[in-house]
Amino acid sequence: MPLYEYQCEACGLVFEARQKFSDAPLSSCRECGGKVEKLISRAGFSLKGGGWYDQGYTNAPSCSGGDSAGCAACPKAANG
Ligand SMILES: [Zn+2]
Repeated sequence: MPLYEYQCEACGLVFEARQKFSDAPLSSCRECGGKVEKLISRAGFSLKGGGWYDQGYTNAPSCSGGDSAGCAACPKAANG
């Protein structure tokens, strides 16, 4: 079950709530009943570098497929 974080706008309380995907988001603070705002869960965002963006593909010059040295690492070259 996913874990959501909420922060109360009234008292500033940050609390976590486990909810099903089908559950409606909380709208009131469990302590004071004030309005709460849903925070982005830290657990759901563990992007610590690595992966696709470190391969340099996003910075590769536009290439038509194999007519320059830079194309050796280009996915287009690999695909023929
Ligand atoms: Zn509150």
